[in-house]
Amino acid sequence: MTPESMFHQMLGLGTEWEVSSCRFDPETGLVILQIAETAELWKRYRCPHDQAEVFCYDHTEELVWRHLNVFEHKCEIHCCLPRARCRQCQKIHRVQPPWEGLAMHFTKGFEAMALLLLREMPVARVAKLLKETDTRLWRIVFAHVDAAYARKDMSEVTCLGVDEMSIRKGHEYLTIFADLKAKTVLFATEGKDKSTWERFIAEWEKHEGHRHQLTQVSMDMSKAYRAAVPEWCRNAEIVFDKYHVIAHVNSAVDQVRKYELRYGPVSVREALKKTLWIWRKNKENLTDKEKERLAGIEHKNLWTAKAYQMRLVFQDIYRSTTVEEARKRFKVWCRWVRMVTAQAPRYYFASMLSAAKMVLNHLGGILAHWKEKITNAFMEGLNSVFSAMKRRARGYRTSVHLIAVLYLMSAKLKIPFH
Ligand SMILES: [Zn+2]
Repeated sequence: MTPESMFHQMLGLGTEWEVSSCRFDPETGLVILQIAETAELWKRYRCPHDQAEVFCYDHTEELVWRHLNVFEHKCEIHCCLPRARCRQCQKIHRVQPPWEGLAMHFTKGFEAMALLLLREMPVARVAKLLKETDTRLWRIVFAHVDAAYARKDMSEVTCLGVDEMSIRKGHEYLTIFADLKAKTVLFATEGKDKSTWERFIAEWEKHEGHRHQLTQVSMDMSKAYRAAVPEWCRNAEIVFDKYHVIAHVNSAVDQVRKYELRYGPVSVREALKKTLWIWRKNKENLTDKEKERLAGIEHKNLWTAKAYQMRLVFQDIYRSTTVEEARKRFKVWCRWVRMVTAQAPRYYFASMLSAAKMVLNHLGGILAHWKEKITNAFMEGLNSVFSAMKRRARGYRTSVHLIAVLYLMSAKLKIPFH
């Protein structure tokens, strides 16, 4: 077996193409496979527009595709691609070679391998490993994500989650739309205002979705795009996401702690020092040391401890089996907060009181949780993926790059796309 015929078989070229020569340059360490079409190609090849017979019109200049390494050596396919002319429609077009990937300049095999690594590692590291430039690797990501995303089926979506993530501290945001049942990202776009909804609906309807099939939308209470939901999707009910609601109560507890730490008596202030994380956790998640600390300060009759107790009870309301039970318990909880606020020194419980008011004002959306029990847990998980992504896309932290990686990692696309 000659090296040519070996590479021919390894590339699966069939009878229509042949490896006319292969050479190794010890200087550059490059393996070059020269490929050309055979007479067989012209017998079988048909015009892609009308399936009519074609003839060879001319050839392109020599083109280069990066292929998988041969041992540790870089390997390239070189070929002057034939251009065909149709006998019927007279159109001239470049013949599509079987090895070519979606991004120009790479073979399918190389792209598949690069994408496999890109799922696990930052682009810069993959680039170093494969001895490629970042820019060329991004081209592979964009080509496959775009092609696979265009085919993504969104016809079954009924429960949607919406949340925003910050690209840079302070200003730039992406709004992310996810299918909470299939646990996949549907769409991401710049900004966090109402217009993001308009863009989502337009994209969704390109993917066989329909705005009126939406039954539930899970989000935070404070979102600007809340008003957009009834406007666009008349059958959708807003659900205030459990984790966001609890987070509001959690930060109210934190305010109580801050207040008490500042204005409480000395002994209280001493006890409260460096306890931030204790109050944020659930009791079962505390370490032994933290448990000991908590036991040591609980008897001091702290307002913070009272607020913490309230948060634990609030969280427990989510265990209610029926919506009626939950409604009753939320109302009792709010009364409890009002009562304790009245007993507390002025301002101590202001944050808890406003949390309770918020709960009452949004009770409908909070109780909508009991219909499907959907939560944004999938999206909360995305948050950590997203910060890893920002590291992964280091140097390319634009929304375009981040959205591409987000789709690559979390949109359940068929990638590599061939
Ligand atoms: Zn034709």
